Amino acid sequence: MVAVSDSRAFRVLVLPGDGIGPEIISQTLRVMRWFEAARGFRFEVVEGLAGGASIDATGEPITQAVVDQAVASDAVLFGAVGGPKWDALPRARRPEMGILRLRQTMDLYANLRPAVCFDELLDASAVKPELIAGLDIMIVREATAGVYFSLPRANETGPDGQRRAYDTQAYTEAEIARVCRTAFELARGRSGRVCSVDKANVMETGALWRTVATEVGAQYPDVALSHMYADNCAMQLVRRPKQFDVIVTDNLFGDILSDAAAALTGSLGLLPSASLAGLDHTGRSRALYEPIHGSAPDIAGTGKANPIGTILSFGMALRHSFNAPGAADLLEQAVRRVVASGVRTPDIAAPGVAAVSTIQMTDAVLAALDTLSPDAKR
Ligand code: NAD
Repeated sequence: MVAVSDSRAFRVLVLPGDGIGPEIISQTLRVMRWFEAARGFRFEVVEGLAGGASIDATGEPITQAVVDQAVASDAVLFGAVGGPKWDALPRARRPEMGILRLRQTMDLYANLRPAVCFDELLDASAVKPELIAGLDIMIVREATAGVYFSLPRANETGPDGQRRAYDTQAYTEAEIARVCRTAFELARGRSGRVCSVDKANVMETGALWRTVATEVGAQYPDVALSHMYADNCAMQLVRRPKQFDVIVTDNLFGDILSDAAAALTGSLGLLPSASLAGLDHTGRSRALYEPIHGSAPDIAGTGKANPIGTILSFGMALRHSFNAPGAADLLEQAVRRVVASGVRTPDIAAPGVAAVSTIQMTDAVLAALDTLSPDAKR
């Protein structure tokens, strides 16, 4: 029996977004209701608008009222935003600005991107099966500073008439230290290894990153710290990915390396993510959970979307926001069982294999949860 350590209701803001977002979120809500009925959780769910859906209703990719609700929630469950309907809008008004504004306002500096390989889906990867069998990497990407946010930045015409553009990469030691602490805390619950990735050989920010990561590492003598240059890390992820456990890196390198790690698994629709404001808060900490894929407009409304990435994102919320690692383990085990039993949405089905719908995939996860919890009161 999984014990619920906190009997109060958790406030969850649900932002389905666009495209397949509403389909995968509605199925994840069924899983949340299973945990309420069978495991005694209480979720106060509030639904809001984000992305194109918000633009259509309010003219803005996210309203201040929704941002305020997000900040006041125990967790935000986010679907996906965007689609061709809003592609022609200026950058500041596009659907993606909604999630960027949420990340900044909530100060979600640690983006956790697990890359886990399901052995039954090894053939879906472009990499040799023996290289990725059993793969379980956690990439921790700094997500609120660095080159995507630092000033000055501009795209302008210089005095010589040449167009020129520049960005700035800046980090403070506090920004580096807090995301490193998240990585070390996570490693303690895993195999106890952190690889810090930078370009200390050619970048000032890289040199500071390495110094601060080493200083933080000294406070975690039980965790083994190694350092790697980002270009080597990209190569090692493809050549020998299983050497990694937790990788911690800056915003730009993390953006690229986490996509490369996800591609290793060959299953975009299965992968979750978490964005945290801190693991070490004593009180409530802000957090947002979302699948790593986009709004998949090409399959929206067809019932073909794989809900697993969103369901596992809720699993990360159980672990990191709802103090329930046992419940998170149970949900991950149920998903593994479903994938192992051969239930497939079209995105992970081999050619010629019959595929199930978004709803049927969720039915299978709920049935697996029932099987794994014969004592559940439902
Ligand atoms: P995408 O991830 O939406 O889709 C890429 C491919 O993967 C498509 O063929 C799609 O059908 C498939 N796919 C994605 N998720 C799936 C799932 N759960 N089940 C089955 N198949 C799935 O990426 P894209 O096509 O580059 O972008 C589409 C839109 O999503 C764009 O507007 C983009 O800006 C937006 N986007 C949003 C987010 C976000 O909300 N965080 C992230 C990435 C892209």
